[in-house]
Amino acid sequence: MPHLLILALPIPPRSLEKLGDITEEQVVRSPFGDVGPLARRQQPGASTGVWILPYFGSPTHTDPRATLWAAKDLGVQRILAIEGMVGLAHDLTRGDIVLPTDYIDWTKHQPATFFEKTGAGYISQKPPFCPDISAAIRGQLPQARPVIYLGAEGPRHETAAEARMFQQWGAQVRGLNLVPETYLAKELELCFAAIGLITAHGADRERAYGKGEVRRATREALEALPAIFAALPHPPACGCNHLQDRARQRGVLPKDWRKWQ
Ligand SMILES: [Zn+2]
Repeated sequence: MPHLLILALPIPPRSLEKLGDITEEQVVRSPFGDVGPLARRQQPGASTGVWILPYFGSPTHTDPRATLWAAKDLGVQRILAIEGMVGLAHDLTRGDIVLPTDYIDWTKHQPATFFEKTGAGYISQKPPFCPDISAAIRGQLPQARPVIYLGAEGPRHETAAEARMFQQWGAQVRGLNLVPETYLAKELELCFAAIGLITAHGADRERAYGKGEVRRATREALEALPAIFAALPHPPACGCNHLQDRARQRGVLPKDWRKWQ
């Protein structure tokens, strides 16, 4: 079963060569819009490959349901995202690597569910991110600090007053993509977790100027990817792929997930 890697920050394509050569490219047509082109990379002799979806638009212009529908359509179970994030907490600085372990949803115009008609999206957010993928990231990137993520779709940046408010709520980083992707993934019984790279400071702090620290952090995260994928348990131990069992038993959901709505 292939994995999906979502790159929500610019990455030189050559840095992904350790995941294998490109064996296939595809654009997936979903009811929520086209997704791709996605490239599949696979090591020779490996049993599974990785579909890679580069950043292709602002979340205000791309329906995140399209991405997750495409993942399911490609037979993916596990999704790992790498996203550039704003460090709200004052002890986070450019080039730090973080692991979101919980989130606050401050999006206002994003789709909240696949199930507008049936209400089958009543899914526990505990844990908010897939435990299997999170454990693999922790194991291979021990420097990744656990953080609470605040999702705001932008495209504008937060104000200084908002940065202070978000910190009072307990948020340590802000980003554009993980919310609502992580809970929409749960609705389709997909595993989802992310690595965050701090690329900027919150608006209540001095602006940070780069000296290659984001490039270094990006390289560290990308170099850990083959080991992260290799550390994932088979079969999954997390239970994400059973999140809709109750809805299925109640007869709320048809067997064919493409008819879920
Ligand atoms: Zn999972």
